[in-house]
Amino acid sequence: MSRQIFDSHCHLDYIEAGIMGHAPNTDLQTVLERAKDYGVGYVLNPAVNIADFDRVLGVAERFEQVYASIGVHPCEVEETLTVANWVEDVERRLGHPKVKAIGETGLDYYHQSGDSEQADLQRQCFKTHLELALKYDLPVIVHDREAHADVKSLVEAHTGVKGVMHCFGGDADFAMEMVELGFYVSFAGNVTFKKATDLHAAAKRIPLERLLIETDSPFLSPVPERGKPNEPYRTKFVADFIANLRGVPVGAVIEASTQNAFRLFQLSPLKAEV
Ligand SMILES: [Zn+2]
Ligand SMILES: [Zn+2]
Repeated sequence: MSRQIFDSHCHLDYIEAGIMGHAPNTDLQTVLERAKDYGVGYVLNPAVNIADFDRVLGVAERFEQVYASIGVHPCEVEETLTVANWVEDVERRLGHPKVKAIGETGLDYYHQSGDSEQADLQRQCFKTHLELALKYDLPVIVHDREAHADVKSLVEAHTGVKGVMHCFGGDADFAMEMVELGFYVSFAGNVTFKKATDLHAAAKRIPLERLLIETDSPFLSPVPERGKPNEPYRTKFVADFIANLRGVPVGAVIEASTQNAFRLFQLSPLKAEV
């Protein structure tokens, strides 16, 4: 049983690179120590594009408590699908001992409309990721922005695939539909925003044993530090907020979400923690 918080989606490599207001060459050691001060003992750093794969793996190799996932973000598909052997580029890294998932992948109809050519490429790329997830028995980390129906039908078409809806952006009914398909639902800093009433209802309704939490750093910093460059320590604020919503002690949210992350990513607590 772990009492440490698991930030299930954090682009540490972006923080280090100085994206979204962070200083260039930000020292990740300091960032992770600050996380630890808030009880955040585990982080998963997802890849976004082929060009990032080795950078992401490098971060995971440097820090025991950091894990990685390999995949291509829906907003990056145009560039990636022109690379002849991109699937091999993904597959080659899946055997790395720190790679615990495939992603992030999914569909984003916010930046591109669902009937665009680019969205066709997104669907093709997402399907490939779902097939790989089944082939390698790895969970998928799904990015879904305004594409709920298509995400759900592609997941449904791949029976047995497991994964997480990261930075969940739907309502409570959609969250429950994904839970019924066997998925976990992860809430990011935007769940703490006052106007996010659909997210509040979703975070309240899903069973605790399907809940994950994340920062999606460096994006989406939660209240009370909204608008700042985000960091993994603020997963604690997401846990506090959800505990309040559900009327349970924060320890219950932390224990459940970390156990869920261990189950989904097939991990066990680090020896240093126990
Ligand atoms: Zn995302
Ligand atoms: Zn992300």
